[in-house]
Amino acid sequence: SGLSLEDLETIRVLGRGTGGVVHLVSHMWTRELYAVKVIPMRIEERERKQIARELKINGRVQNEFVVVCHGVFLENGNISMVLEYMDRGSLADVLRSCRTIPEHLLAVICKQVLEGLLHLHQEIHVIHRDLKPSNLLVNSRGQVKITDFGVSAVLGSSIGQQNTFIGTYIYMSPERVRGGLHSYDSDVWSLGLVLLECALGYFPYVAPAQSEGWRNVYELVDVIERQPPPVAPRDQFSPEFCSFISGCLRKEPTYRISVAELLQHPFLRRYRTYTREHLATFINELVPSSVS
Ligand code: ADP
Ligand code: MG
Repeated sequence: SGLSLEDLETIRVLGRGTGGVVHLVSHMWTRELYAVKVIPMRIEERERKQIARELKINGRVQNEFVVVCHGVFLENGNISMVLEYMDRGSLADVLRSCRTIPEHLLAVICKQVLEGLLHLHQEIHVIHRDLKPSNLLVNSRGQVKITDFGVSAVLGSSIGQQNTFIGTYIYMSPERVRGGLHSYDSDVWSLGLVLLECALGYFPYVAPAQSEGWRNVYELVDVIERQPPPVAPRDQFSPEFCSFISGCLRKEPTYRISVAELLQHPFLRRYRTYTREHLATFINELVPSSVS
């Protein structure tokens, strides 16, 4: 791509995640903005090179619903990924400033995420595995793009203990938390949970009453396994939205609606007149909550 790290000037920190820090950078000559994700790797050189190779393969994805990766660099034990800059951050950031997102705009978001998933699943045959609000990025044009796909699979073994952080587990499907096989349907489960969280304004699973939040991963896994899946309350949402959510949140993966079918779902049809411009207006009017 011709990009080199030396030509990128750091402007500020955009966010911090489970794997590393994301910086906003500007290219010295072109003044183009990028987001650079720096992941510290405490592993062998040979292993690091293998990981970088796999990340580069992911970097070849060219789709308007997937965040572009412009390059992957290895330096001083870090992996740096130069990513397309999404100027409104992630859906996690959006939720911090608006708490809930109205249904008609969720449809606009959902449509784009489904298009991105369809591409990942059908064209490059990868399961995202880590779909969550912080991995869905938005910009001021109302575009929504998927990021960090396959990264968790590639990096999972190397990041080590950091990965036990509960945030990486809560959107996992029952078959995944059980440690069994997972497939494309696992991403559909995660999408359903993300949309429901955006609609309700809180994560749909609640910790057992007596404890303050989730004490550990096992407690959550236990609840996901034993409880019936969460639903969208019928008195607050349209029947189409409720049915869309239940189609995603079926505990048995083979009963979940496929990405291709979800794209034809009545929920998207109901709100088909809403566009990215409507989403852009909503997002651009939000006052950012204090940076994490
Ligand atoms: P997580 O592990 O929670 O997904 P990440 O390190 O991937 O954390 O991202 C953390 C935050 O950095 C996101 O919530 C978002 O605010 C910001 N971010 C990540 N990638 C980009 C990008 N390409 N453009 C703009 N902001 C980004
Ligand atoms: Mg991420």
